[in-house]
Amino acid sequence: MDTSMASGNPSFDDLQNKGEAIDHPQNEDTMDCESLNISSQAAVKPNGTVSSSVRELLECPVCCNSMYPPILQCLNGHTLCSGCKPKVDNRCPTCRHELGNIRCLALEKLAASLELPCKYQSFGCNGIYPYYSKPKHEYQCSYRPYGCPYAGSECTVIGDIPHLVAHLKDDHKVDMHNGCTFNHRYVKSNPHEVENATWMLTVFSCFGQYFCLHFEAFHIGLAPVYIAFLRFMGDNNEAKNYSYSLEVGGNGRKLIWQGVPRSIRDSHRKVRDSFDGLIIQRNMALFFSGGDRKELKLRVTGRIWKEQ
Ligand SMILES: [Zn+2]
Ligand SMILES: [Zn+2]
Ligand SMILES: [Zn+2]
Ligand SMILES: [Zn+2]
Repeated sequence: MDTSMASGNPSFDDLQNKGEAIDHPQNEDTMDCESLNISSQAAVKPNGTVSSSVRELLECPVCCNSMYPPILQCLNGHTLCSGCKPKVDNRCPTCRHELGNIRCLALEKLAASLELPCKYQSFGCNGIYPYYSKPKHEYQCSYRPYGCPYAGSECTVIGDIPHLVAHLKDDHKVDMHNGCTFNHRYVKSNPHEVENATWMLTVFSCFGQYFCLHFEAFHIGLAPVYIAFLRFMGDNNEAKNYSYSLEVGGNGRKLIWQGVPRSIRDSHRKVRDSFDGLIIQRNMALFFSGGDRKELKLRVTGRIWKEQ
């Protein structure tokens, strides 16, 4: 007990000195008045939005995210989000004093009075929301960026649709086609290597929109199959306005699929694993391919149309 106190003392003094140097008690009153005046003038602009200095107050110094109740503070008044408290070993990350369990109700109430623009403002959202309901809006904001629809790689690019179309074309070298009908050949010299990334993506542009046609090999249980499906580059409520059909066949047989494109908000894997597309058993695919069944040669034809 004694030894730990003794070894703890010097650093405790150090910290306290630093703390005093920062807070400077003599200047406290005037400093506070000044900063209050500045913030009351600058903080809330006439349109109800808030300057960056107030927003910075609500930013956790550890994770840099916006803080939500319970917001914690140390004995010196430095704040911290409750999610980061377990990470800092009960020490204030700013002054290193013991953190304790003090809640900063004043800041929580200040936050409740704030209205801030949606974080996707730069993507075109003009919405302004109360601080505490902003995350709920942002979770479903229609301007939130889309993830890259390219499957088969761990691409982390996000953006709006024009950005992603350019990205698919330039960075993934994806085939681009104009028009609402298509006739596409999939050739694969070793169709038995299902694991070997037999997926392809083609982008179609029609009705002023973009659609992703996916084709890939996977297994349903132990059975090797191919799937082809269409995803809409936009939100689900718009995707519903379109339909598409896919046809594949050979030797007098034919498989036809008619579906509704899924939004690229639904991941490629999610659509595939719900079998929401044209599924071709590998045996059938090889039969359609003709020849000696050693090569996959599928001709997939399709059409996209607008409902109503
Ligand atoms: Zn945090
Ligand atoms: Zn502190
Ligand atoms: Zn928004
Ligand atoms: Zn990408």
